[in-house]
Amino acid sequence: NRQFLLAARPVGDIKESDFEYREEPIPSPKDDEVLVRTIYLSLDPTNRIWMSDMEQYMPPVEIGEVMRGGIIGVVEESKNPNFKKGDLVSGLLGWQDYAIALGSSGFSLTRLPNPLPCPLNAFTGPLGATGFTAYFGLLDIGQPKVGETVVVSAAGGAVGSIVGQIAKIKGCRVVGITGSDEKCRWLTEELGFDAAINYKTGDLEKALAQACPNGIDVYFDNVGGIILDAVLTKINLRARLPLCGLISTYNASKPVPGPYNYSQILMKRALVQGFIILDYIPRFHEAIAEIGKWLNQGQIKYALEIVEGLENAPKAILKLFDGNKKGKLVIKVSNEP
Ligand code: NDP
Repeated sequence: NRQFLLAARPVGDIKESDFEYREEPIPSPKDDEVLVRTIYLSLDPTNRIWMSDMEQYMPPVEIGEVMRGGIIGVVEESKNPNFKKGDLVSGLLGWQDYAIALGSSGFSLTRLPNPLPCPLNAFTGPLGATGFTAYFGLLDIGQPKVGETVVVSAAGGAVGSIVGQIAKIKGCRVVGITGSDEKCRWLTEELGFDAAINYKTGDLEKALAQACPNGIDVYFDNVGGIILDAVLTKINLRARLPLCGLISTYNASKPVPGPYNYSQILMKRALVQGFIILDYIPRFHEAIAEIGKWLNQGQIKYALEIVEGLENAPKAILKLFDGNKKGKLVIKVSNEP
């Protein structure tokens, strides 16, 4: 059983040496436990938060522990009456080929629907935590109305690309901010965004003024930092700002100052609301039904950046921070049944 453990808390960018590789015998399930084989391992910006010991929404991963990660897998052996060999499942089972779940393992599992309503890999993206984050953050907190302007950052990524498409379904003008011309073209030409801005080239405030002639009603923030500051100069009265993530700050080794245009939240009576998707677990079924329908009707498309092989996870995770990927980043650890 190949595993990656957390070897060191990263200072600045994640380094491959922050992980330690180990091989162990494949474990056997005890009473009430199951053995799960990992098929897909999800790599997420929050992995960087879990690797640190900052105050966070879950306990950090301890040094020497298997690195935490969301997986899609298949039950290989079951001693739990509610799961059988062959069941497809998801859980936070970590960076390893095989894991024990349920019973006294401390790891819970979610069973995927049988038969599957769409390809298995959709559960790593739009039908997994990524899609649910987009759905509840935008609809519950953003409350977009027909004709309003929705801006989303990290728009070429996993969550952002779904946010924009849901906002289009809800009748909004949608503007994405992302880090390459190629991703901008993907957003406008394939995903139906009305405009996309490459924040790495040109003046972001000017570009926003051009792309949002009626101002900004909803800003779905994945990034924080200077992008948030530019957006704050264009928000409308009673704008809503779902605060989903702050990826521009995750690698910082000192507290990041700002936002400098904070006063605009007061002047425009804006609402900023942070949220963590785990709070919405009791409502995941709503998102599964709606997003599943949109996927089947072709109203939502998704891209996966699939990196083959567990051994490549420590290097692949850097793609989340250099932006060198489109859509959802996953490691393919083993074959689908
Ligand atoms: P993505 O697939 O969007 O990958 C991260 C992207 O962020 C990169 O591709 C890159 O794209 C962009 N980025 C990286 N560094 C910077 C930077 N310094 N400035 C601006 N953009 C940057 O990841 P996810 O969709 O999984 O996550 C997006 C955000 O949502 C993250 O902040 C994450 O923590 C958060 N999140 C929050 C959840 C919650 O429950 N609140 C749940 C899931 C995710 P580009 O080329 O555009 O720069």
